[in-house]
Amino acid sequence: MKCCKCSNVAEYKVALNGRTYFVCEDHIPTQGDSCEPITDLDMLRSNKHIANLQGKEYILFAGLLWLAHRNGLKSIETTIIEHDRETGFCLVKARVFGERGEYQAYGDADQITCGKKVAAAYIRMSETRAVARALRFYTGTGMTALEELPNER
Ligand SMILES: [Zn+2]
Repeated sequence: MKCCKCSNVAEYKVALNGRTYFVCEDHIPTQGDSCEPITDLDMLRSNKHIANLQGKEYILFAGLLWLAHRNGLKSIETTIIEHDRETGFCLVKARVFGERGEYQAYGDADQITCGKKVAAAYIRMSETRAVARALRFYTGTGMTALEELPNER
């Protein structure tokens, strides 16, 4: 994210006339306005890594990856625990590892919770959900990932 007044990397946000501006160290307003350090959440929002559905915010998978890499993510491993081709059900375990330690989570998908469009992709969907949950644990993100929702779009 760049400063709104120069090409430096912005480090602070300033609220002014109901809008938010991002500024570098050199362009912090000298008086009056509230000025706070930019948070990961600000970065996620400005990079469109957060979606708003019916008034509730959901983090996108790409945003979780970005956040995890920013926080020393080193590896992601996934294992299929259960796969039933007949009924179209898949359960995947994800293990993520990095500077913050090791976290595991499960994700499942079937042809119903995938939604019609991606019914054939339930294996990949269960993997995405497992990794999304593991990355949420790793990054301490309470916000649900959009990809975890049933009947997605
Ligand atoms: Zn600047």
